[in-house]
Amino acid sequence: MNILNKPFDTPFNTAPFSKIKTEDFLPAFKQAINKAKAEIDAITNNSERPTFENTVAALDFSGEELERISGLFFNLNSAETNEVIQNIAQEVSPLLAEFSNDITLNEALFKRVKDVYEQKDALNLTIEQSTLLDKKYKKFSRNGANLPEDKKQRLREIDKKLSQLKLKFGENVLAETNKFEMLITDENDLSGLPEGAKEAAKHMAESKNKEGWLITLDYPSYIPFMTYADNRELRKTLAIAYGAKGFHNDILDNQEHVLQIAKLRFERAQLLGYKNHAHFVLEERMAKTPEKVEEFLNELLQKAKPAAEREFNELQNFAKDLDGTDHLEKWDGAYYSEKLKQKLFDLDDEKLKPYFKLEHVINGMFTVAEKLYGLHFNEIHNIDKYHEDVLTYKVTDDKGDFVSIFYADFFPRAGKRNGAWMTSYKNQCIKNGVNERPHISIVCNFTKPTKTKPSLLTFNEVTTLFHEFGHALHGMLANTTYPGLSGTSVYWDFVELPSQVLENWCYEKEALELFATHYKTGEVIPMELVNKIKASANFHEGMKTLRQLSFGLLDMSWHGKDPRTITDVKAHELDAFKTTRLYPDVPENCMSTSFSHIFQGGYASGYYSYKWAEVLDADAFEYFKEEGIFSKQVATKFKENVLSKGGTQDPMELYKRFRGKEPQVEALLKRAGLIEK
Ligand SMILES: [Zn+2]
Repeated sequence: MNILNKPFDTPFNTAPFSKIKTEDFLPAFKQAINKAKAEIDAITNNSERPTFENTVAALDFSGEELERISGLFFNLNSAETNEVIQNIAQEVSPLLAEFSNDITLNEALFKRVKDVYEQKDALNLTIEQSTLLDKKYKKFSRNGANLPEDKKQRLREIDKKLSQLKLKFGENVLAETNKFEMLITDENDLSGLPEGAKEAAKHMAESKNKEGWLITLDYPSYIPFMTYADNRELRKTLAIAYGAKGFHNDILDNQEHVLQIAKLRFERAQLLGYKNHAHFVLEERMAKTPEKVEEFLNELLQKAKPAAEREFNELQNFAKDLDGTDHLEKWDGAYYSEKLKQKLFDLDDEKLKPYFKLEHVINGMFTVAEKLYGLHFNEIHNIDKYHEDVLTYKVTDDKGDFVSIFYADFFPRAGKRNGAWMTSYKNQCIKNGVNERPHISIVCNFTKPTKTKPSLLTFNEVTTLFHEFGHALHGMLANTTYPGLSGTSVYWDFVELPSQVLENWCYEKEALELFATHYKTGEVIPMELVNKIKASANFHEGMKTLRQLSFGLLDMSWHGKDPRTITDVKAHELDAFKTTRLYPDVPENCMSTSFSHIFQGGYASGYYSYKWAEVLDADAFEYFKEEGIFSKQVATKFKENVLSKGGTQDPMELYKRFRGKEPQVEALLKRAGLIEK
């Protein structure tokens, strides 16, 4: 029998990586899908009346084997892939999509879930059970299960049309990005650029058989040029090209796509009984309604705007003194900001790195988890790993009870994608009375040590590590019954609270003393340096906040209202930006026509959540600061009401139980230096 289709006969039931062969995956997937289908059939064919247990709970526990194999496979595809794995992914993804569609469109199954849903009040369910029932029911209803046949038909048409439009939107943005090139033949025009950026531009030109230096709209080319190039005219050319993507009234134009997407989303929401698309999306978010989101964005706007205007005027004066530049334009912002930042803070990564040796930071992070949550991390060598660089730990609590397996994979290699993430190989749940503990993993891309030099992290990498470890704690401390509500299975605008809040410890003396010691001298990082890190992190925070708010407000202007009367994309945008604009408008530019986050990706009605999550983490951390950053009492409340609870209850309720009140924006504004402490 395929090793993947059997229970793993290993310590802690960990994945037997060394025994799994890549060619095992495809047949294992197929077998697991069949098994999951049979489990669903058993639910729908049950002759007993639908109950919470025989329908909703059974549905949540179904497909466990498929879940396990998928987790394993897609984690490997991210962290240790090769062509064979990628080909299997191509083959298996449509099978999985089809299986999941079959469930959502399964009318017999929906009928049973609905039956339970309608008896809900009489069932005496726990809060967790009631949340699970809502979640399962809405999975169907939000997909049209309650609609009469003709409206169902229309919903499918809209979904099909939307996916085509989103695809086309993205293709146009990409084509516009690739179409533009700025060839520079006079080296003087590169004045100000760092050597690395110049070399990259030279290589880019060579790769296209051109003489000189080629600048493109890709981030690694565009950003350094806008930040460092002294030639203002060329910055202007580049900035205008960047901002005009999808806005040329030609074959790659996206204005009509933007209008159609907004209108179809509105129609879809109305079909399903919601006032607009934002109401539909926010029903399953902590913020709940567009009104709440707009109130939130506008409160932040009102409070951050004075700081933003002050910063803008300072920058204007700085540019005037430096170059005689009278009126700052969009293409001047990054350039003068960088110059001013250099002048104010003489801070670079190389000065900080000796204080952040990877092993020290890992131990420091474990100590923080021990002080807060009583967790102990012991490295173990008796379980399999998928690569020799992976570290493996057994996590126990203060009583010595087993909490979790923890994998940590820190260094880049071919076959691992960029970035940093947390994931799991096994989720926590309580099955047949047994609390199944999770297997959690974090994956990063830090500089690998050499024979002569240890791995030294930049400060940004230190906060990244704490961030992912915060997600990992959310997974490790999970303590719920149903797998579908466990750990990080929470609303989208709540999931970054555990991760972002932990980053705060990286700025605190008491925490830094635990790990930020010079790798040669053992000296603790001087507070003067830490204060500089904080101040530079807050540099131009007012303007940055205004920019984020402008995107959030634009998003809500498209999705939080009836879009049917909008005919002119640019005019609509000018109106949406009127409270957040600092720089003069550029008539050739349009944001919406290349705003892939909301018109192609999944951020529609969700852009606000970046700031929302910051408000949550600042407000939560303020509580720790009030009682001491290692306060057992606050940590216990955080563990009991947030980290262990997953998505078992409305996050606002969980948060209030931890904090005693709803989150307030003040803590963020104070931390960011936008209002007085
Ligand atoms: Zn995160």
